Amino acid sequence: MNSVLPVAVLHSRHAETHAALADSALELARLVLVRGPISRGDLARELKLSVASLTRLSKPLLDSGLLIEGELLVDGTVGRPVRLLDVRADSAHFVGVKIAGDLLQAAVTDVRATVLAVATKELSDTTVDTVVDGIVELTQALGVQENVTVTGVGVSLGGQVRPDGVVHRAPFLAWKDVPLGALLAERLGMPVVVDNDVTALAAAEQWFGAGKDTQNFAVITVGAGVGYGIVIRDHVIRTPDTGLGLGGHFPLDVNGPLCMDGHRGCSTAMLSIPSVCAQISTALGRPVDYDEALALAASGNKVAVAVLTAAGKALGKLMAAAVNLTMVNTVVLGGEGVALFAATESTVRDALQVDRDPEAGSVNIRVASADFTEWARGAAAVAIQAQAFRF
Ligand SMILES: [Zn+2]
Repeated sequence: MNSVLPVAVLHSRHAETHAALADSALELARLVLVRGPISRGDLARELKLSVASLTRLSKPLLDSGLLIEGELLVDGTVGRPVRLLDVRADSAHFVGVKIAGDLLQAAVTDVRATVLAVATKELSDTTVDTVVDGIVELTQALGVQENVTVTGVGVSLGGQVRPDGVVHRAPFLAWKDVPLGALLAERLGMPVVVDNDVTALAAAEQWFGAGKDTQNFAVITVGAGVGYGIVIRDHVIRTPDTGLGLGGHFPLDVNGPLCMDGHRGCSTAMLSIPSVCAQISTALGRPVDYDEALALAASGNKVAVAVLTAAGKALGKLMAAAVNLTMVNTVVLGGEGVALFAATESTVRDALQVDRDPEAGSVNIRVASADFTEWARGAAAVAIQAQAFRF
């Protein structure tokens, strides 16, 4: 291989020798990746180092090509222009793949999780062999298409995933204890990280989205189900129960419909796309998909308005519960059903306010794209986090 991938080089150095030095260098590199372009002065403050130490620490990173001298910034406090440090965004490329039933959704990104290209593949079935073949094919095709060497792969899915890449439980695939990460790593010959899909989305936000402004936020996804994740003090919270969908059955409306587990008015019953569509379809006596449900509500159809208003109110209550109990004040909304928020925004905000102490700080709501690319990008983000830097 003639093209050196500095991220990988840095990581291998870390693994081999100079652990103490590498730890601080990695922390520096991570900070530049997440916050850059950034001045040495700001970096020194964040890392509680002197500027001299910071300059010493950054030199090997600049020499290796991982960090670059970025734009000039005229900083009044220094009195002369300072050159900002940045990462070379194209120093490494990653592929993220979301397994959405019999559909694979993939994206190739640079080291900042910027999506360069996307691809999808429909599978004939969801056996392990078929899914592995599909992910290998997409990864190779995206690398060739963009003419890049893929450094690592992240895979996300709705289910419980162990840190070693074993899918412990994924009911929608009928999988139990599948060593997906190891199977893919062997086929692809590169590191593969597997994670729960909502957790991966939270990780993408942590480094490349909402986390730029805050170390604490909740993620709520609305789609086939309802997902919940949380980042506290810049750590994505993962527990053995992550992936069970614990946020998916939170009680929100005693008069709501039933979910498949028999809960009346739980978050899945009130918010999920299938439940919203089923309620409207039943009342109108014909099948209605999500786009039509939103269009009907916008045009004043009484059934659609009633169902979506109840959903919007439930979303506001869920957000209030999330921020009140965890004491965060930022919520990232994602998932393919996130259009619910735009369709019912004032209802959502009113319901949130009702359940919120008037003295409490305002809740910052960030809406991620409803595009499937967000899920694939999330999968790439966990690969970037796991492979580029380790903490
Ligand atoms: Zn339920």
